[in-house]
Amino acid sequence: MAARHDQTTDPGLQEDLLQARRGTAFFARKLNELTDAELDGGTLLPDWTRRHVVAHVGYNARAIARLVEWAATGVETPMYPSPEARNHDINFGATLSPIALRNLFDHSAVHLSVEWRDLPDTNWANQVRTAQGRTVPASETVWMRTREVWVHAVDLDNGASFSDIPGQVLERLLQDITGAWKTRGTDTGLLIKVTSTAGNGAGLTFGDTSATNPTIITGALPAVVEWATGRGATGVTTTGEVPAAPPWI
Ligand code: ZN
Repeated sequence: MAARHDQTTDPGLQEDLLQARRGTAFFARKLNELTDAELDGGTLLPDWTRRHVVAHVGYNARAIARLVEWAATGVETPMYPSPEARNHDINFGATLSPIALRNLFDHSAVHLSVEWRDLPDTNWANQVRTAQGRTVPASETVWMRTREVWVHAVDLDNGASFSDIPGQVLERLLQDITGAWKTRGTDTGLLIKVTSTAGNGAGLTFGDTSATNPTIITGALPAVVEWATGRGATGVTTTGEVPAAPPWI
């Protein structure tokens, strides 16, 4: 019989799982605040309605659950058969009835949570491959989901903001983003300085720390992360006009 609590005894992983489930609950709350008619409305993402965001978050849970199953069984199961199949699913999902869309989100989230719950300690280090082709331990799936649910809750554009996202999640997100820029060499001359607001990440510096004359982007942690994810430049300042952040995904 399956356990009712997480199999893993690793405190760090237990904490990460809590953060992912909190994010899922937060997304669920924002989704439940929307009427069926409001699902047709726009989001912070170009060309995506709320329907697209909900479908994507639902299919993302299924895709991540496939990686956890892979780690559990050793049978290779990719997140998506192809990028085209992923996009096709999202466009199809966006046409579902409101009740079916809401069920997709709810059921896929529960399924993923159960897959995590039942994964034994020894399997969390098993290697799986993300849709971007990165090979990562199964434990990374928790973070992959965490950032999706928190950021896409803001994308729903019905009142959630980056200030609602826990500081730890924002910091890790900013590390991911600036790391991706560095890998691609698109961070040249860009330095991010986090100002002291609400104690979160105060004094942290991200980006191109070796530049002699960098463009310094300054703001509170939620604001700089909002900018870095390409969701707008509210609350960030620099000398002159704030540039668009380099692409991240
Ligand atoms: Zn996403």
